[in-house]
Amino acid sequence: MSAFSSYISTRGGVAPVDFAQAVMMGLADDGGLLIPSQIPSVGKDTLNKWRSLTYPELACEVMRPFVGDAIPYDDFKQLVAKSYATFQADDVIPVKKVGKVFICELFHGPTLAFKDVALQLLGNLFEYLLKRDGGKLNIIGATSGDTGSAAIHGVRGKQGIDIFIMFPDGRVSPLQERQMTTVPDANVHCIAVKGTFDDGQRVLKEVFNDLDFKRSYHLGAVNSVNWARVLVQVVYYFWASFKAQKETGAAAVQIAVPTGNFGDIFAGYVALRMGAPIRRLILATNENDILSRFFNTGVYSRGTVCPTLSPSMDIQVASNFERYLYYRVGQNPEKVRTLMAQFAAEKSLTINDGGDATFAAGRGDTAMTLDAIKRYYDSDKYILDPHTAVGVSVAEKFLADDIPTVCLATAHPAKFAAAIQKALGQDLAHHPTLDALVNLPTRRVTLDPQKDVIEKYVSDCLK
Ligand SMILES: *Cc1c(COP(=O)(O)O)cnc(C)c1O
Repeated sequence: MSAFSSYISTRGGVAPVDFAQAVMMGLADDGGLLIPSQIPSVGKDTLNKWRSLTYPELACEVMRPFVGDAIPYDDFKQLVAKSYATFQADDVIPVKKVGKVFICELFHGPTLAFKDVALQLLGNLFEYLLKRDGGKLNIIGATSGDTGSAAIHGVRGKQGIDIFIMFPDGRVSPLQERQMTTVPDANVHCIAVKGTFDDGQRVLKEVFNDLDFKRSYHLGAVNSVNWARVLVQVVYYFWASFKAQKETGAAAVQIAVPTGNFGDIFAGYVALRMGAPIRRLILATNENDILSRFFNTGVYSRGTVCPTLSPSMDIQVASNFERYLYYRVGQNPEKVRTLMAQFAAEKSLTINDGGDATFAAGRGDTAMTLDAIKRYYDSDKYILDPHTAVGVSVAEKFLADDIPTVCLATAHPAKFAAAIQKALGQDLAHHPTLDALVNLPTRRVTLDPQKDVIEKYVSDCLK
């Protein structure tokens, strides 16, 4: 293992593992999150070489030191090529000038949301490692909407993997349900749970806590703390910076990120630490603003979740925040343990160190979201999805003349057509992939949210 490609826990309690082990492990065994033992730095010459690469080529180069010897580079290149062949845009991730900002469109994958960028590769990594090292993986998850379909599309048809996704019956949008239930592959199992999202979460926890069942059925998760998901996202921060620099000749850019679990923006932080030409990151939340409050006050304190037009950011406790905390306290696992214990006990932690100039942060509320969608449509005929609109409305507070602003666009607007209708007064957001789902056959079972019921269904499917 080279230094860059070994992984340690934010809480210091795990012997170093390699990239392959980190991918299969997900959460570290001591309750912390895996991070690379060192972040490689990239010099000017390398950056200049990277500018002319295609997206898949750049992805291979950026990730290479983090993968190390765990996967032969030629094999890794094939996995990357296969993962981005499913994207509908020729250059995978188009970056477009719209008004005063650059919009980096991360939504051209199979489910039209940015989670595809990571989950398409994660599915291929799982399949490759299971085939090579032996074993099976049965992914089980509970979704309130979007993550489920991106996970399903990441592993559909893959050997050695089955996926079980629970969603609350009648409480996800018909479109979101169809994105899951129209997938015909035999390894995909959609479970409508009679109850709420919380019932799904609860029964999921109960199943995972049944350690005998978990072990004998090789259960795993694809949650947002998997290191590979973060790593894959580091790539487009380089990509977007290069594109905006090429258009403007600027020495560096700033990048606005609509944030929920702090996964995406943590990837930006890694890119910045590696030496990507990024001056600062603009963190944008909706009304669920634990993270923007933290960056403006130093206090990280949990509130209650409030439903908004950008549901994928309706999160109070950000599962990737601990990774950032590790760096913020000087890479000191003991301090991380103390702070996380304090947060668990008091639902709040405070850092008084004068702040971190790497980040600007703000909150884009519902009125600002609707207003941004309307203004960008009126002036440029460009439709922002509501998550992207949160990012754009916060970015507008931090525009600067000498530094271009890139806004990450995390979903296609057609996925959130009701919000677009509300902002524009017309049903303008469509996408052929989504419109086509209406005519496809669906498959799902409806089950009670009880551990024994779910376990019996899983074991029957795997017979
Ligand atoms: C998941 C998601 C986000 C938030 O990403 P995090 O990595 O959780 O910060 C933003 N927008 C959309 C559309 C998403 O699906």
